[in-house]
Amino acid sequence: MTQVFFKILLSGLLFLIGFASGFAKTPTVKVHYDVTPMVASDAPKIKIGLSFKGDRSGSTKIRLPLEFAGQSRLYQAIKNLRLTISDAELIDTDQPEIKAIKHRGGETIRLEYELIQDWTGAPEAGGASAKPGGGYRPILQPGYFHFLGSGAWVLPDLPKDSKLKVSMDWKNVKENFTLANSFGTNQTAQSFTTDVETFGSSIYVGGDYRIARKNVKGKQLLLATRGKWNFTDEECAGLIEKIVLATREFWNDFEQPYFLVTLLPIESDPQSKSIGGTGLINSFATFVTTNAALNDVVWLIAHEYFHNWNTNAFGGMKQPEQAVYWFSEGFTDYYTYRLLLRAGLIDLEGFAARYNEFLSDYYLSPVRNENNRRVVRDFFSDQAVGKLPYRRGMLLATKWDDIIRRQSNEGKSLDDAMRQILRDARQKKIKEISTDYVVSVLSQYAPYDFAGDVEKYVEKGDTIGDFGGVLGECVESFAVHSGKFELGFDFETARKSKTVAQLVEPSAAYRAGLRNGQKVLGASVYFGITNKPVELTIEENGQNRKIVYLPEAAEKISIPQFKVRENLSENEKKRCLNVL
Ligand SMILES: [Zn+2]
Repeated sequence: MTQVFFKILLSGLLFLIGFASGFAKTPTVKVHYDVTPMVASDAPKIKIGLSFKGDRSGSTKIRLPLEFAGQSRLYQAIKNLRLTISDAELIDTDQPEIKAIKHRGGETIRLEYELIQDWTGAPEAGGASAKPGGGYRPILQPGYFHFLGSGAWVLPDLPKDSKLKVSMDWKNVKENFTLANSFGTNQTAQSFTTDVETFGSSIYVGGDYRIARKNVKGKQLLLATRGKWNFTDEECAGLIEKIVLATREFWNDFEQPYFLVTLLPIESDPQSKSIGGTGLINSFATFVTTNAALNDVVWLIAHEYFHNWNTNAFGGMKQPEQAVYWFSEGFTDYYTYRLLLRAGLIDLEGFAARYNEFLSDYYLSPVRNENNRRVVRDFFSDQAVGKLPYRRGMLLATKWDDIIRRQSNEGKSLDDAMRQILRDARQKKIKEISTDYVVSVLSQYAPYDFAGDVEKYVEKGDTIGDFGGVLGECVESFAVHSGKFELGFDFETARKSKTVAQLVEPSAAYRAGLRNGQKVLGASVYFGITNKPVELTIEENGQNRKIVYLPEAAEKISIPQFKVRENLSENEKKRCLNVL
């Protein structure tokens, strides 16, 4: 940034011409970090030293962590930021994430700070992006640490596509102290080139973690985890290996020399399981409650690993990226189940069952017909809205794959379109994924109005339906009838003032005896799930009374479902699997 600034100042025209013909490259900025984990105490922290060359003008800006995946004010985890060079001054600006430094022109700027956990308690379950302890803010606990690059690294203030040459020395690391991150494992001296945005999209764990290693066609695959699980590290790493192999075969891409999966254990009450994760550079991070079985995490691993291509290898997404999540998340979900089926990790029945869950969830969603602007606005803050792009993309991919296969007499499929996107990205024909670009690629594979579908189902939010025959000849579609989730009273009022209010009449809650004004002593609700009973304890005439009902609305809607045809021969099944 600093160098670019000077070039524009001195010879703006020359710079622009040079840029257009590819002569002037974005300068690579060198940054060095000294990282000292101090997690043995009750107040764990990481001491970080940072150095880089300051601007020739004697005025340089730095950028602190700000936001990532719904977490904001990440700079609150940066403490005691200070200069360690003399005759220089660190100055606040009106943006808390930006600081200005006055220094001797061109000298090396050295800073120190401490990374802390800026929330209290241990990692917590559910909605990783919404809760501070869900894994997206730095976790510093006695004995270990877990943080993302976007939440930890202070950098010179550069455009997000600026190239970085990073060197990183890990200090005072004892022999049995594990280090694993997106750029290497158990290396105390690291150096790598990246760019500002990618550097943020990296994971760092250390301390009492264990490492399980696999070798996939000569390339390193590592699992880093800690704590106790219902499965061994070796079993988990073996499963990851199968998924990695199937996915690399899909993309025909075996180049990545190193890949890390982190598995963060979260303690929770036995009734609630939570499984989440995020795809990152050379890695993905998962946050899972310790009561999970290996079967529960298989889809998460397949989903996150697919992100290594969609969209990591594609070069990111057009802003606001939530508008493109129908593709990045929905198509990733689509291939999650396809690849698990192809790899034999789930069977056809399990495959159909997963579709049925998604279809029920989508058809019963209270926000099913919200438009894509609502998705952009509320993706991170409203769980129901957050699910929409996953469901829409998966269902559209299902229909479109079927259309491409039929119109090409099984000569082409959606797989070919996906691989073309990867080719375009590798040949630098695209810089980022946009809805228009995806539609333009699909249109090369079938004479079909993909743009019209996107407008109707993604942008406007019409209901996606008509699934006859889309999963091949072995799977048939039928309909079930079910009501939407209806709690029947206002939960927030009940929670805050312990009183029943805004009772819906008629409703299952009303029929079970709930009335406005009753005092609520306790409640157990599975939000969005209609076949798990709501249990309320209310006080009536000085007596406690239990009220139990299924939170399902009386009005039934028709939900498409799939089932595998009965009495299929092994040969028929095999033929069907060939086209899935
Ligand atoms: Zn995802």
